[in-house]
Amino acid sequence: MAAPQVDVLIVGGGPVGLAAAIEARLIGLSATIIEPRGGPDSADGGSGSADGGSGSIDKACGEGIMPGAVPALARLGVAPHGHPLRGVSYQSAGRRVDHRFRSGSGLGVRRTELSRALAGRAEELGVGRVADRVDTIEQDGASVTAAGVTGRYLLGADGLHSTVRRLCGLEIAVPQQGRRFGLRRHYAIAPWSDLIEVHWTPLAEAYVTPVSHDLVGIALLGPARTDFDEAIASVPTLASRLAGVAPASTLRGAGPFDQRATRRSFGRVMLVGDASGYVDAITGEGIRVGLAQARAAIECIAAGRPGYYEREWMLRTRDFRVLTAGLVAVATSPLRGAIVPAAVALPRLFGGVVERLAR
Ligand SMILES: Cc1cc2nc3c(=O)[nH]c(=O)nc-3n(C[C@H](O)[C@H](O)[C@H](O)COP(=O)(O)OP(=O)(O)OC[C@H]3O[C@@H](n4cnc5c(N)ncnc54)[C@H](O)[C@@H]3O)c2cc1C
Repeated sequence: MAAPQVDVLIVGGGPVGLAAAIEARLIGLSATIIEPRGGPDSADGGSGSADGGSGSIDKACGEGIMPGAVPALARLGVAPHGHPLRGVSYQSAGRRVDHRFRSGSGLGVRRTELSRALAGRAEELGVGRVADRVDTIEQDGASVTAAGVTGRYLLGADGLHSTVRRLCGLEIAVPQQGRRFGLRRHYAIAPWSDLIEVHWTPLAEAYVTPVSHDLVGIALLGPARTDFDEAIASVPTLASRLAGVAPASTLRGAGPFDQRATRRSFGRVMLVGDASGYVDAITGEGIRVGLAQARAAIECIAAGRPGYYEREWMLRTRDFRVLTAGLVAVATSPLRGAIVPAAVALPRLFGGVVERLAR
């Protein structure tokens, strides 16, 4: 195989792939991203959104950056524009409990803006970019090649339905029954709260995230074929806020969430972000956890210890996996209807969970 042209080849230019490329450059490694999307047509912003432009990729996401991820982005030299998020509010059938983050704020950030900010920083640091979709990978003891580029290592950062994970035989089949999906749409309306509101309906959770002074995103998490408009209509407080407000983006979906890998590495290939395995968006931590994974993978490569990545991945994602799996288990059980009443009755416990998410 050809000699490596680059230290780290990154498949997927979503937030985690871009963060990994920035981490690589900051530590003195060369990096190239292979990503098929990113042209001016890749975003559908709507009024008030930070729209398109080259490198700006849209995706269904709740767009809530938890407080711990804001300094993690700043460390990379990335400061996207957004709306401060001061805490979390759980609401259902007239009951509500609010918890304000004790230290620091999160940030509601339009996905296209996050992509723009990360891509701009990557470009500034000299990250290479190839517009292509990876469908084969070849590796030997010294290098790995995809889309005609050869690297010393390859990171699969290609999302929930990772081709890299499948090509490396790391995929675990998950039963289809009961799997959860996400939908999102934006509304051109001034935010009415600086909290992330979570409205619990009998089947789905509607996450309301302000992303700018005149734009609010709503992400709906629930079973397959959940009807977005019906779910919103079933929450009177939300329905009345949005009455007569035009949607500012098309409906986008993603899922199923639950994706698993047997392990994170295969030879010179490592998986990061959603590609490495994902549980659910219920705790809004995808970006925070993905940034931690990107950092761990690059640190292991730089230290010449790629074999340590699996252990680091396990350590840095443990809290997320345990809390998210636990919350999903309750949310999909007959106890679902007791979640908000319990949070209202036990505000300190609710606050403790929110503070854990804020880390
Ligand atoms: C409805 C919903 C709500 C969510 N809410 C939140 C939230 O509020 N806060 C939060 O932190 N997280 C949230 N998440 C999770 C978050 O969106 C993900 O964790 C995050 O996008 C993961 O980033 P990534 O870079 O790993 O993958 P992605 O963002 O999926 O990026 C993968 C990239 O790989 C590219 N790609 C795919 N296949 C190939 C290929 N074969 N070759 C080359 N490139 C390829 C794609 O084009 C894409 O750009 C939510 C997710 C959903 C679905």
